[in-house]
Amino acid sequence: MTYDVAVVGSGFSAIALTINLLRFLPSSASIAVVGDDPGFGRGTAYRTEFYLHRLNVPAARMSVFPDRPDDFVEWLRGQGRAAFPEDFASRGDYGLYLRDTLASLLRPRERRAHVDFIRAKATACVQCEQDGIVFHLDNVGELRARTVILALGVGNADLPLPKDRIDPGVGSRIIDNPWRLGWLSRVGRTDELCIFGSGLTMIDQVLSLRAQGHRGRIHVLSRRGLVPHPHPTRRAAPVTPDLPDSREISALLRALRRQVENGADWRGVVDGLRPQTQALWQSLTTEQRSRFLRHALAWWNIHRHRIAPEVFARFNALLKDGTVTVHAGFLREIDRDAEGANVRFRQRGTPDIASFHADWIVNCTGMERAGIGHSPLLTEMRNRQMIAMDELGLGISVDGRSRVLDPDGRPQPGLFAAGALTAGQFWEITAVPDIRVQAKALAETIATDISRTAPRRARIA
Ligand SMILES: Cc1cc2nc3c(=O)[nH]c(=O)nc-3n(C[C@H](O)[C@H](O)[C@H](O)COP(=O)(O)OP(=O)(O)OC[C@H]3O[C@@H](n4cnc5c(N)ncnc54)[C@H](O)[C@@H]3O)c2cc1C
Repeated sequence: MTYDVAVVGSGFSAIALTINLLRFLPSSASIAVVGDDPGFGRGTAYRTEFYLHRLNVPAARMSVFPDRPDDFVEWLRGQGRAAFPEDFASRGDYGLYLRDTLASLLRPRERRAHVDFIRAKATACVQCEQDGIVFHLDNVGELRARTVILALGVGNADLPLPKDRIDPGVGSRIIDNPWRLGWLSRVGRTDELCIFGSGLTMIDQVLSLRAQGHRGRIHVLSRRGLVPHPHPTRRAAPVTPDLPDSREISALLRALRRQVENGADWRGVVDGLRPQTQALWQSLTTEQRSRFLRHALAWWNIHRHRIAPEVFARFNALLKDGTVTVHAGFLREIDRDAEGANVRFRQRGTPDIASFHADWIVNCTGMERAGIGHSPLLTEMRNRQMIAMDELGLGISVDGRSRVLDPDGRPQPGLFAAGALTAGQFWEITAVPDIRVQAKALAETIATDISRTAPRRARIA
């Protein structure tokens, strides 16, 4: 059988695509969803059951439908919650909302496209001249589809240290992927931890540790030692940014800073920039984008990706009582000591080397610039010249319609990508408010293509 559409992936991007394909495709269409995660649609972000793992976007902006913004708030109320649009709901609840939304579209009485959910990992892929794209799956042979959307997410960044600077003896003490939450149960109540990275993932892990009774010391180390800001308890109204014509990063940042100095709330300015961020990114040269990533990314992240006020208050209390310390510096070596590891780093702005003991080392450096090395499928597709990395190595090369480009910059027939994999083209495409727009646009494009070619296909059959 040849499916009309195959979605490969099992996180938010895949479920948002599936939901929108069910809305827009004709009922005669067939969809295959291939994902290797049993909690389909929840991915790393929304499978957590820990209540303090909150959304970092208010409920009013988390509907999976860009054209029905109240949907998530209404779902929360339907569950008997006293939910308000500005609430920061739990990420576990959001996962349930996604599951329920998909289920409501799959009810047998509705006449919609047929969907097969296939639990498998796609390992390789070939473009066929006549009949679309064929995937090899790790457990059920092959799958053929006329149109394919890659929604694979991106991998985790490695520790910022060459392997030869890490004593092999501490290997079992290094947690490469903290989202496999099983590691938390191995940590003793008073164990000392070193967490690399000081962003949202770090805060989640610190709060998870404390919630399960951990009381030991936690050292957090990142290059700048910057921690996300909180959302205000009352949202500042977005302010339209007053941007110069120049696309120099320093000029853009100066303009934003000036607006704040002239009295605008900085959160309003950052939120006001959001509807323009993708277009702004697309108007930058590669050199300007690269400068932004080198010099402004850490600042951008803490101002743009803010956390729920309650979550910030809990984390801040740990900073104040001194059990959690954030260091700004550059990792030099991880050696073995009598009870675990000795972490040596150069303190930012000084030549001084400092060190501390850690029983566990946790990599929370996040997902930016992880490339495609994590994915055998993408590596294989690159070897076959079906895809190319974008110029900055953020993901794969796509055009403004999310069509995957080959190394010569030509769109691959019937091949699209969604989510963070497309960050090279869109930059702001890692959070729900952006991915849902991309998912709807892709579903509409594919629905139009299917309607256009269906009569011809029927004649061929
Ligand atoms: C901890 C966390 C909290 C977040 N909180 C928020 C928030 O509050 N608000 C917000 O708007 N955004 C949030 N985000 C951002 C955003 O919603 C997520 O990053 C989003 O879920 C990304 O989904 P994705 O499907 O693109 O990628 P992923 O979630 O990474 O999913 C990709 C999936 O594809 C599967 N896969 C990969 N390769 C294959 C293959 N070859 N074959 C089959 N399956 C494959 C993987 O197993 C994985 O399950 C958060 C992100 C994280 C990590």
